[in-house]
Amino acid sequence: MTVPLAKANILVVDDTTANLDLLTALLESNGYLVRPAISGGLALAAIQNQRPDLILLDIMMPEMNGFEVCERLKADSDTAGIPVIFISALNETEDIVHAFEVGGSDYITKPFKRREVLARIENQLTVITQRDQIINYYERLDRMKQQFIRSATHDLKNPLHVIYGYAAILEDMDGPAFERSGREFVEQMYGGIRKMQALITDMLELAQLQTGANVVLERVDLGLILQQVAQNFLPMAAGAGISLELALPPEPLPAQVDEKRIERALDNLVSNALKYTLPGGRVLLNAVRMKQQVVVSVQDTGLGIPEESLPHLFETFYRVPLESHIGIEGTGLGLSIVKALVEQNGGRVEVESTLDEGSTFFILLPLAES
Ligand code: ADP
Repeated sequence: MTVPLAKANILVVDDTTANLDLLTALLESNGYLVRPAISGGLALAAIQNQRPDLILLDIMMPEMNGFEVCERLKADSDTAGIPVIFISALNETEDIVHAFEVGGSDYITKPFKRREVLARIENQLTVITQRDQIINYYERLDRMKQQFIRSATHDLKNPLHVIYGYAAILEDMDGPAFERSGREFVEQMYGGIRKMQALITDMLELAQLQTGANVVLERVDLGLILQQVAQNFLPMAAGAGISLELALPPEPLPAQVDEKRIERALDNLVSNALKYTLPGGRVLLNAVRMKQQVVVSVQDTGLGIPEESLPHLFETFYRVPLESHIGIEGTGLGLSIVKALVEQNGGRVEVESTLDEGSTFFILLPLAES
C-alpha cells in the first residue's frame, strides 16, 4: 500500500484538548485526514477500528501513558508497522531515549513549531511509502522467481519424460524390432535432448546476465558488428530460402558498448527473424543515426505477432500462443536475453509487428561522443 502524503490518515493522541485542537487544525489545513483521541485506551480502540498511517502520541497521559500504548502497538504484528511520533515536553532527554526504546520513530516537542511538526510527519510518511515500495518490489521479484522455476521445471520435465519413455521401449526391443522403429525412437530422444540443451543453455546465460558481471564497454562501430552478424547468418538464411539483406549508412555508427553482448543480442534477433519467417520471405538488417542514438532494426516478412502478445514478448518463457509459433522449436527465453543484454549497454529494445505481415525489432543505443 502506498500512502499519498497529503491524504494520509493520522491519529493524534493527547489528553489536553487544547493540544488536540491545535494539532488537528494544523494537520487538517495541510490536507491530512485527522482523528483525535483523548486517552491511550480510546486511541487503541480507534486503531482497532481503522488502521491509521501514522500516530502522534503524547507521552504524559493519565491511566495509560504513551509508552505503554506504543509498546502494545509494537507487540501486535497488525499495528507494529505504523510509525509513532511521540509528543514530549522540551528537554526531557530521558523520555526521548525511552521513546526510541519502545519503538517510536521520532518525536516532537511542546510547544509545537508548526513547520517542524509538518516536516517530521512528512519524513515518516516518506519512509513508510519507500518501505512499502521496497516490500512490493521484493514480493514481485519473488513471484517472478516462482514463475520462472515453475516454467523451467515444466519445460525440462517434458522432454525428460519423452527420453525416458523411449529409452524404456528401446531396452526391451529385439534386433528386428530395433531395425523397424528403433532408429526413429533414437531420433525422438535426440529431439528431447536438444530441447533440454537449448533450455539449459538459455537459462544459464540469463542467470549469468542478471548478475551484470563483466560488461566491457568499448567504442565500436555498430555498422561493423551488423556486417559480421549478417555474414554469419547468410548460410542459414540461404538454407531456409530467405533473403537476408543489410542496409547501412555510409558514415560510421559509434557506440560505447560491450561488443560481444550486442553481437549476441543481434544474433538472437536475426535467428528469430529467420525462424519465424517462411521460405521466400525477406529479412532486412538496418542501422541509422537518429539524434543522439543509433537505431538498429531487424525486420522480417514472417508470421508476425498478434497485438495482445506484444506487451508480454520480452517476459521469460513467453511464447506467442499460436499453433504456427508453438510448432517451431524455442525456449521463450531468447528475447529476455536480448532485453537484458541491451539494457546492460544503456539501450532499449522495441518491437512493431502485424500478424501475418511481419515484425521489426529495434535496438536503440546511445551514440558515442565523437
Ligand atoms: P523462442 O525461443 O520461443 O523463439 P524468444 O524469447 O526469442 O523465444 O521469443 C519469444 C516469442 O516471441 C517466440 O516464441 C515467438 O512466438 C515470438 N517471436 C520472437 N521473434 C519473432 C519474430 N521475428 N517473428 C514472429 N514472432 C516472433
